[in-house]
Amino acid sequence: MLAVRAVRGYRTISFEAASLLAGALPWDLEARTLASLYAWRKEKEASVGRPAPRETEGRRDELRQVQVAEWADRLLNPSAGLATIQAVRPIMPEWLQRRYGTLTFRLTQVLSGHGCFGRYLCRIRREQTSGCHHCVGGDEDTALHTLQVCPAWDEQRRDLVAVVGADLSLPAVVKAMVGSADAWDAYVPRYTGVPWSLIGVPRLNKVMLQFKLGLLINNKYCFDD
Ligand SMILES: [Zn+2]
Repeated sequence: MLAVRAVRGYRTISFEAASLLAGALPWDLEARTLASLYAWRKEKEASVGRPAPRETEGRRDELRQVQVAEWADRLLNPSAGLATIQAVRPIMPEWLQRRYGTLTFRLTQVLSGHGCFGRYLCRIRREQTSGCHHCVGGDEDTALHTLQVCPAWDEQRRDLVAVVGADLSLPAVVKAMVGSADAWDAYVPRYTGVPWSLIGVPRLNKVMLQFKLGLLINNKYCFDD
């Protein structure tokens, strides 16, 4: 539940997906790291004396990497949250080590599929059908439908494609976002209302913000934050 809160997601997001999005090592692996670190420190103190803080930090990082590898193995066979995990797991080291990019309520919706999308809302009985409100044919409304297909997002999609390329699969978009701080909008909200050209906001930042603003404005049936 802590991981779900950390990523501002719906409570229905699986533990595995929420932990990965939050970059939070599962508690049992975290406990293993701490136990190993404790044993290492005791051994050091008994032999050569108390280790320096920097040495302890280095050892903690080493032990954590071992547990992260174990975590990645577990995620090969997740029990739920498959789409999210398949998108993030291939770039897991970059995802965990990035120094920028926070997950907002709406970004987590796109990454998890749990949010203002017909299929999800229908599943939790907040909508009668899973069809997209914007599509005449009533295509099923999902995060991917919004990203890749729905004509209501043509304009935002054009801008997005111009920056990240034609592949708008979730893994490709996640990879683009993690690949550059420009791809994440962590710093954009403070500039809201100021012309982009005056502040030189990176183009991809602008595009991602536009896409999310579109989600906010056009999704008539969105829940409140
Ligand atoms: Zn649609």
